[in-house]
Amino acid sequence: MSENCIFCKIAAGDIPAKKVYEDADFLAFHDINPAAPIHLLVIPKKHVASLAHVKDEDGPWLGRMMVLMQKLASDNGCTPGHEGGFRVVANTGREGGQEVDHLHFHILGGPRPWNKRAAPAA
Ligand code: 5GP
Ligand code: ZN
Repeated sequence: MSENCIFCKIAAGDIPAKKVYEDADFLAFHDINPAAPIHLLVIPKKHVASLAHVKDEDGPWLGRMMVLMQKLASDNGCTPGHEGGFRVVANTGREGGQEVDHLHFHILGGPRPWNKRAAPAA
């Protein structure tokens, strides 16, 4: 746990969040300011500042986190299959747009008719 880290406080239960998944290592919850119809955040419970801070020995749990994301997407309403799908984003560092310095993956999904690239061909 890192002091003054919002996501460590959410992992510890000190700040409430709309949790959708929890196990010994990971927690997933709804983003407080969703940027898509489905917008989840997935974090490791242990404090790691960003993807720029992971080491070779972190590979196994990072791999488990990657595999977990397809389940979180489908369990939380992302449209299945190639025509559906979801987006995974890890903003890293200030120039990478990271605001909370605790490693997290955004899972973004759901129909987005305003997104021309995702819209069916006319
Ligand atoms: P970043 O820009 O660091 O990749 O994204 C941080 C995300 O965390 C933002 O999308 C923001 O809406 C979300 N966020 C910040 N504070 C809280 C909070 O207290 N609770 C929840 N659920 N999400 C938060
Ligand atoms: Zn933290």
